[in-house]
Amino acid sequence: MDTIVLASGNRKKLEEMRAILAPLNVNVVAQSEYDVPEAEETGLTFVENALIKARNASLHTGLPAIADDSGLEVDALNGAPGIYSARFSGADASDAKNNALLIEMLADLPDAPRSARYQALLVLLRHAEDPTPLICQGTWEGEILDTPRGEHGFGYDPYFLIPAAGETAAEMEPAEKNRISHRGRALNDLIEQLEERQRREQQRP
Ligand code: IMP
Repeated sequence: MDTIVLASGNRKKLEEMRAILAPLNVNVVAQSEYDVPEAEETGLTFVENALIKARNASLHTGLPAIADDSGLEVDALNGAPGIYSARFSGADASDAKNNALLIEMLADLPDAPRSARYQALLVLLRHAEDPTPLICQGTWEGEILDTPRGEHGFGYDPYFLIPAAGETAAEMEPAEKNRISHRGRALNDLIEQLEERQRREQQRP
């Protein structure tokens, strides 16, 4: 597997993925370099949506594909915004609007716990009909604050406190966030699974 297409237009994700997969001699290319139409994320779980995106990219490029799907689960909101994290506040959602809605909903539940977690699901398909995709999940536990802190990161980061660090995800240095975040953990898991598969393939008679 020399080249893998990344089912995302996000440059930051592409660079992160390239750096992490460099030791495996894998070339990661963006789906924007091919004519890949946007996939409709109709799944009800992160893993379904990641599979839909990866299958779509593989189908239209003929290459193995990686996709990720991620979001924030807040216990007091029964797991919302979950798979709808990016579009929580509607069709014209933005980070600011999503955060405002989240804080407004939690304000109505003053006695509810503030526990929450980021989830990241990463899948790798060898081809569009691969029946045994590699599936990796990373989780990052935290608590939702009422007031934002920090300038780094994106999305819900200024409100997401990591109690053990005493910092929000937006106060953390980006390299530190990448090392311990849900996405970082899922990526590490992917490398381990890929290395394990390469080892098994090399041992085949
Ligand atoms: P996607 O997986 O790129 O579609 O992102 C899903 C959404 O989840 C993002 O738009 C953010 O709202 C939220 N999210 C996922 N990961 C993070 C993170 O590391 N920080 C902040 N928000 C995140």
